[in-house]
Amino acid sequence: MKKIIKGGTIVTDSAMFEADILIDGEKIAAIGQNFDGIADAEVIDASGMLVLPGGVDAHVHLDLPMPNTTSSDDHYTGTKAAAFGGTTTVIDFANHDLPSLVDSFHVWEENAQGKAAVDYGVHMNYTHFSTESLAEIAKLPDLGVNSIKMFTAYNGRMRLQDGEIFQAMRKAGEEGIISMFHVENGDLIDLQVAEALAAGHTEPVWHARTRSKDGTAGELLNICMLSKTAGYAPIYIVHMNTAEEMDVLAYAKNLGINVWGETCLQYMMFTEEDMKGWEGAKFVCSPPMRGAEDNEGIWQALEDGTMDVVATDHCPFMFDGTKEILYEGKPFKRPGKELGRNDFTKIPNGQPGVGDRLPVMWTEAVVNGHISPQRFVELMCTNPAKIYNIYPQKGAILPGSDADLAIWDPMKKVTYGVKVAQHRTDYNLYEGKELTGFPVKVMLRGDVIVDNGEWKGKRGAGKFLHCEPLSE
Ligand SMILES: [Zn+2]
Repeated sequence: MKKIIKGGTIVTDSAMFEADILIDGEKIAAIGQNFDGIADAEVIDASGMLVLPGGVDAHVHLDLPMPNTTSSDDHYTGTKAAAFGGTTTVIDFANHDLPSLVDSFHVWEENAQGKAAVDYGVHMNYTHFSTESLAEIAKLPDLGVNSIKMFTAYNGRMRLQDGEIFQAMRKAGEEGIISMFHVENGDLIDLQVAEALAAGHTEPVWHARTRSKDGTAGELLNICMLSKTAGYAPIYIVHMNTAEEMDVLAYAKNLGINVWGETCLQYMMFTEEDMKGWEGAKFVCSPPMRGAEDNEGIWQALEDGTMDVVATDHCPFMFDGTKEILYEGKPFKRPGKELGRNDFTKIPNGQPGVGDRLPVMWTEAVVNGHISPQRFVELMCTNPAKIYNIYPQKGAILPGSDADLAIWDPMKKVTYGVKVAQHRTDYNLYEGKELTGFPVKVMLRGDVIVDNGEWKGKRGAGKFLHCEPLSE
């Protein structure tokens, strides 16, 4: 089955030009003009539209178990929401729950498979160090995994020590595997949380006040230096959100360290002020919202090229999990943020975002003049695909690429919020926000899966992506 996307303006990470796209089956066959003579091709009119590569969200959590509940989007509902926002590839995380990394991967695989509505890959958490699991890092490429994620926080649960981190990143580097890091200072957080609780502070804003941003910058510098010591092993820092981190990232890159930076859109849009009162629980995630100067620092890093990726850390919970919502016409109810009504440490960490990312960032970043449409595509689609080695299959509009496209109406006005976003939860951080520009048709490997707000996709249509090890 051939399709022609006709009359649109293609946006890539480096150019914007008018051209038609010929799709043959799941792939882009050609880009150019004069495909009119091709018989039996379905023509999709894209005049007045932009045509972007489908979004690639390198950081989502689907069906993530937490104490006393599970995140509210699973591999179907979360990827469906992604599609409505123009994202056609997501990368999830596999918990390291069993001693063996390989066994843990298979637990994740069994739970995830057959559900996703867009294509998906996975990062492997590495949270329990042993000589056996260290050796297993070499087996990850056979599973289609080219990244491991480590933590410098969550003492006693997920944190590895510096010597362990060093060995893991050295081994990973040898195997062409990226070491990802959540950088916060676990020691400082434990102390500050204990002090806050002892002083009777229980409100959501204390989640932010007990997670030191200086501690984060310190851990970041430490991880960068460990990478240098480990032979410049490649590292990727997730959800960076402070102005100081932007400075350290630029410094590390100047030193020749192989580091990529990721931020998430919420960290540019909100501050600790938004976390005051009980409504602040909606914003509880780790790391937390920071200050206006940090919002500014991140925008600067997007503008000057320091930052590499904008992801979401999508991990929604219900705001009021005592009440039912309807999802696809059926009642859905699950404990949520109310678990921490009397203790901020019990608020499940996370928020919706996978569907919000492209539309909200388009208005905030492109329409408001921070970055060009090409830089938008680079941050949202191309860079994450390149880093995780699924480019140019993903993140590109090139002959041979998967025909994953977001046909974007740059004039469309949308009042955004929980009713427009398709996440399976009862709130949205951008409620009432006026957007200009929105994906009107979304294609996954040649199939239209969202058509003017209508769902045409299918549970299980998403394929697992083998992320190959980095060469060189
Ligand atoms: Zn995360």
